[in-house]
Amino acid sequence: MAAKNSASSIFRLSFFGAAEEVGRSSILLEFNGTAVLLDAGIKVGREKNEFPEIPLELPAKLFAIVLSHAHLDHIGFVPALIKHGFKGKIYCTKPTRDLMHVLLADAFAISKERGQELYSAKDIEKTMRLVEVVPFEKSVKISRNFSFKLFSSGHIIGSAMILMNCAGKHLLYTGDFNTRESNLLEGCKIPKEKVDFLIMEATYGSKKDMLPSLKSVSKEFADAVNGTFLLGGKVLVPVFAVGRGQELMFVLENYIRSGYLPCDTVVFVDGMINSVNKICRHNVVFLRPEIPARILNSDDDPFKSPFFKIPESKSKSEVYAAENAVILATSGMLTGGPSVSYFKRLARNERNLIALVGFQGKDSLGRELLNGAKEVKIKESRVPVKAMVRKFGFSGHADFLGLFEFVRKIAPSKIFIVHGEHSKQLEFVAVVKNKLKKEAIVPKALEVFDL
Ligand SMILES: [Zn+2]
Ligand SMILES: [Zn+2]
Repeated sequence: MAAKNSASSIFRLSFFGAAEEVGRSSILLEFNGTAVLLDAGIKVGREKNEFPEIPLELPAKLFAIVLSHAHLDHIGFVPALIKHGFKGKIYCTKPTRDLMHVLLADAFAISKERGQELYSAKDIEKTMRLVEVVPFEKSVKISRNFSFKLFSSGHIIGSAMILMNCAGKHLLYTGDFNTRESNLLEGCKIPKEKVDFLIMEATYGSKKDMLPSLKSVSKEFADAVNGTFLLGGKVLVPVFAVGRGQELMFVLENYIRSGYLPCDTVVFVDGMINSVNKICRHNVVFLRPEIPARILNSDDDPFKSPFFKIPESKSKSEVYAAENAVILATSGMLTGGPSVSYFKRLARNERNLIALVGFQGKDSLGRELLNGAKEVKIKESRVPVKAMVRKFGFSGHADFLGLFEFVRKIAPSKIFIVHGEHSKQLEFVAVVKNKLKKEAIVPKALEVFDL
């Protein structure tokens, strides 16, 4: 637990995770004796989860938790805080609240399987009761001279940057953000306020992380799908339930509708992505304005396109029988869920394509495939990898140039780099120091800063 504020410090930051790593995001901000936690995530590993290093006595002393978005690396630890005595408010956007319920229930089921239960199903229900929904760009008072606003971060539906106002000093925590628009979302909204301190993610912080435009990567992906169909193969796309899953649905639907992909292409959508789609549909006003307009003004609902099918049989026989099949299945890094069962079967045939479309964590099966593994171990069985494995540069995160431009525009006096592989963070710090002459730090877990 961080010591009491010294009289000279304005406020104090403590980092409990996402420090020199991606995963378990959690940062404590203390101001005038009021403690607020920004995110409380876990790191979902292939066999085990990792948790933020939050001291056990902290939850009871916390005044509030503010959540950036619903991915588990930002919310997965919240019910554990409730179990350990947190009774304050949990602030987030409406889509984050709706998604949180589904994602926490899923995480709970996985942790039970792994014998890593940190909390009970009841703690999830208690979590949901403490949530207070906050609209974008509305100031919310925490205590005297202490307030915050949420700004759309362009990463997933309802994702937010958190701007903390501590007696006129502003601290912006980006959560995960994207500067570019996607099929579902517009790019992040930059606050007008002068930002003094910036805590930013750097998932793509290396100079090598220059991503292609959405248009060119979508075309490259559609060409690869066509090529696989010509060979008589199937395409497996492991996707995150929230974000990339919907993005790829929209990309495929566009290409089938335009005739670029065969009209008998069937897009099988399997796993938790289906419950998430319903939530996106209910929160459609949080998506790009064309989407609610399209749903309201016509019968043409992109979430209910006839090209999408949910596999109904347990054996998934309809998927394997279909001629031109693309399978969008969770999870995105092949760490669990139906994508792993499809992979086991499709990996054995050289005509099939495994298309990796998102970030692949360090110890994930997806990363092993990207590293060129010819055989992988899944639980006790060994699976030969004969299928083509390709990576496509879709992203819900800002790329290197996007991160750089963002820092230039915000122009803070001090920057903390979180949520990135350590080598990439160091690379980004060097660029910020050399090119922008700004003070930049990669905090370590449990490091404390008085500002
Ligand atoms: Zn995220
Ligand atoms: Zn994240």
